[in-house]
Amino acid sequence: MNNVVKHSSSLKSKNGQHIVRIRDVEVGAKRIVIMAGPCTVEDRENLLMTAISVREAGALVLRGGAYKTRTSPRSFQGLGETALRLLAEAREQSGLPIVTEITDHTDLPLIAKYADMLQIGSRNMQNTVLLKAVGRCRLPVLLKRGFSNTIDEWLSAADYILDGGNDQVVLCERGIRTFETSTRFSLDILSVPVVKRKSRLPIIVDPSHAAGNRDLVIAVSRAAIAAGADGLLVEVNCNPYEAKVDGKQTITTEQFSDLMRQLKAIACSVKREL
Ligand code: PEP
Ligand code: MN
Repeated sequence: MNNVVKHSSSLKSKNGQHIVRIRDVEVGAKRIVIMAGPCTVEDRENLLMTAISVREAGALVLRGGAYKTRTSPRSFQGLGETALRLLAEAREQSGLPIVTEITDHTDLPLIAKYADMLQIGSRNMQNTVLLKAVGRCRLPVLLKRGFSNTIDEWLSAADYILDGGNDQVVLCERGIRTFETSTRFSLDILSVPVVKRKSRLPIIVDPSHAAGNRDLVIAVSRAAIAAGADGLLVEVNCNPYEAKVDGKQTITTEQFSDLMRQLKAIACSVKREL
């Protein structure tokens, strides 16, 4: 049954390569795009230091959450517009464009004033009101896979954005729920080649939320690039030990520099650049 689903993104673009532009950064081209930064913006100094450090190591986009979709309503929900302002300051200082999550379609006018790319989180992958809203805007969208969704459901979610007139969509595999408990989620590494066969949209991998533990992030990042991913979305913090959100899975800026060095050789072996 799934085989008959025809997705808007299954058509090959004229030159066979669909490029998504985040300001002057191209996703889907030869160069692998690494997006890095804290899970959630919590503190100005920490954000600015992390931004400069990931840029120096070779990241091309800065990530940071302002509005969070936490599992519990009692968990820290993000600093909202204060975080957006800090992200804009970090962009100014680092030169990196920013990607940040949108959780509510009514926040779109405000977030669009600051963001260079909108992230739709795993828990909102099937929020059709949100998908249609970002489909009407002209900012690129990072669409994460719902952790309980099939690849075809994920591509159907992308159809909502594409059919609204916005073809600037990057997919992000971030792990799915399985019976395995030794990692936070199970990274479905095969979704990378499967999506490459089914869709013209670029696909990146988030190793952090799948791993759930910083010591597993480097290994799975190497696997993602070897499998053909167009980039990574990695949680990095110059002091992850004090982060309120996802600190355990967030790598240090030193680990990030090491990761970038390791990825260079792998990128080269799959005929990509970093
Ligand atoms: C995140 O990127 O910090 C995040 C909340 O991810 P996900 O939506 O994949 O859980
Ligand atoms: Mn996170």
